[in-house]
Amino acid sequence: MNDKKIFDITPFTHLDYPGKLACIVWLRGCNMRCMYCYNSDIVFAKEGNYTEEDLYDFLQKRIGLLDGVVLSGGEPTIHDLLPLCRRIKKMGFAIKLDTNGLHTEMIQNLVEEGLVDYIALDFKAMNGKFGYVTGSSKYQNFIQTLTFLVSVQAEFEVRTTIHADLLQPEDINMMMRELKSHGYNGTYYLQTFIETRNNIANMEKPKSDFDTDMLEDTLTVVWR
Ligand code: SF4
Repeated sequence: MNDKKIFDITPFTHLDYPGKLACIVWLRGCNMRCMYCYNSDIVFAKEGNYTEEDLYDFLQKRIGLLDGVVLSGGEPTIHDLLPLCRRIKKMGFAIKLDTNGLHTEMIQNLVEEGLVDYIALDFKAMNGKFGYVTGSSKYQNFIQTLTFLVSVQAEFEVRTTIHADLLQPEDINMMMRELKSHGYNGTYYLQTFIETRNNIANMEKPKSDFDTDMLEDTLTVVWR
């Protein structure tokens, strides 16, 4: 596989893969256009900077030093991750997948073949705001992925980025109820929008406040 689907490799993180020392592999391209996305260079890149072989060379030298590999992006599952993950697993690394959940079939294949050990699933918004926030109309794909992960008891977490002009506590309360209604009882991670020099919709610091006291206790919420 000589196409350069890998935009970048962060050689070391102890924050992105719970309990593991890992590297992050940033795969180019995405099937969403989230308004607050600050990885637009990765999202819009037609070509990355590294091939899979470059990654294997890198990982070969990290055997015994790193525990895991985080596949992030962009949206990793727009690529055929099966050969990549088979090879990474053969080298002895655990794999965490960061995903927006739209590509249900790829995620099913990865989980059923035992190729991913942990998944961070982004829940962008409820159906009514999903298209506005993400530029995608495929809310049902997200729900299918969620339902699948719950049904096979996969190791995964759900997380949401909050920009208070896009999502308010009543949205998050609805999202918690939605998660619960599909059998998710795990921790719900909330992360606040980080203002950067550029993001897809040039969003600035929110003008609205986000009143955390308005959050219901449907799920255990942890802020990151
Ligand atoms: S924030 Fe949205 S647009 Fe950006 S990489 Fe993630 S899913 Fe894609």
